[in-house]
Amino acid sequence: MIVALSGGVGGAKLALGLSRVMPPEELVVVVNTGDDFEHLGLSISPDIDTVTYTLSGLANRELGWGRHDETWSFMETMESLGGDTWFRLGDRDIALHVERTRRLHKGETLSAVTADLCQRLGIKSRVVPMSDDPVRTRLRTAEGWLDFQEYFVHRRCEPVVHELLFQGAGAARAHPEFLAALTDPSLQAIVICPSNPFISVEPILAIPGVRQALIDSPAPVIAVSPIIAGQAVKGPTAKMMTELGMDPSAGTVAQRYRDLLDGYVIDHADMSEVVSIDARVTLAQTLMRTMEDREALARTVIEAAAILRRRKASR
Ligand code: GDP
Repeated sequence: MIVALSGGVGGAKLALGLSRVMPPEELVVVVNTGDDFEHLGLSISPDIDTVTYTLSGLANRELGWGRHDETWSFMETMESLGGDTWFRLGDRDIALHVERTRRLHKGETLSAVTADLCQRLGIKSRVVPMSDDPVRTRLRTAEGWLDFQEYFVHRRCEPVVHELLFQGAGAARAHPEFLAALTDPSLQAIVICPSNPFISVEPILAIPGVRQALIDSPAPVIAVSPIIAGQAVKGPTAKMMTELGMDPSAGTVAQRYRDLLDGYVIDHADMSEVVSIDARVTLAQTLMRTMEDREALARTVIEAAAILRRRKASR
């Protein structure tokens, strides 16, 4: 079994690669829910949906969110009615949000709804929300505190970030399936996907007990850098690092995870960083453009984890 911690786009790409080079039912993708929010009366879980659409082959790769077979009648009609349109929702995507919202209102958990929808979409891997309890990422910016989607989508990550807060994380319980996977004797690796450390991975690590469970796990923890040659492939990771007073680099991301990491996969372009990283480093091509790239990086991670397991066992 492999546990992968993931946010949206970057994480989902590696999760897809992993699911194609190993028995998919042995992959548990634990997904950030700090981006979740309520909008137009709907419960929206952007990272869960990105992972779900990616693993089922439905993702819109041009947009980086939503479905590829989408139509936009709802949005067009909203616009003509003067409604709220800053958060784009395609017609088919809305069906998923309506169904999730209905079932949550009936008292089902987010994880139960997610598991069922994944099964209906033909996904064999397990997609597990980090918690069924609400956690909401908020950012203190130069313009004051902003809710995550207000910052990320409405304000296009423009406000300068000073501080992040994972509201509710302290009282949230890590999903039992997540914790059980971390102590499973068949666990081969815990993979921290190339996701934004601040808004995708650290909300997961902020849930009480998670960091310690990662440290205590007999399986190696291996991360893939979301930064290549000082830049994010997509999104505000590098911009946030600069604003938070850090040097945007693969090494800085490793620093954020330093108490957890056994292994770290960085791009060939970042070879000069190796000496500064306190984990066993593997150099690879980490930019995932094609399906072959996703699979090759997944294989690299699995092979690196096998070496780390032998090292951990002999300690
Ligand atoms: P979000 O929740 O949709 O913002 O997605 P994530 O947090 O999962 O992913 C954003 C991060 O993924 C950014 O820091 C990107 O640099 C990184 N990323 C996206 N695509 C790739 C890729 O192909 N390779 C690597 N190494 N990182 C990537």
